[in-house]
Amino acid sequence: MTGKEDEFWEKGSFAETVGSDDMKKKMRTFGMKHDEEMNFACNKCKKNISAHNNDWHGGMCDDCFNATHFPEEQHAHVKTPKKL
Ligand SMILES: [Zn+2]
Repeated sequence: MTGKEDEFWEKGSFAETVGSDDMKKKMRTFGMKHDEEMNFACNKCKKNISAHNNDWHGGMCDDCFNATHFPEEQHAHVKTPKKL
């Protein structure tokens, strides 16, 4: 039964630590591969996503993330300019 005291103290300084704890958690998944710990579901299409995507891609799979954040790139891809 260890950790009870830690929990208590964490609550006391929650506002201070939430940022760094969150950051620590995120830094753990930052270096992870996109197919590691596929324990999450995409916000949009419910596809299995990795812990990395959950933290760094807004909880979305790569496809939904790209479609949400880079829609113009998809357009650019569709209408690839012809070389004159
Ligand atoms: Zn998705």
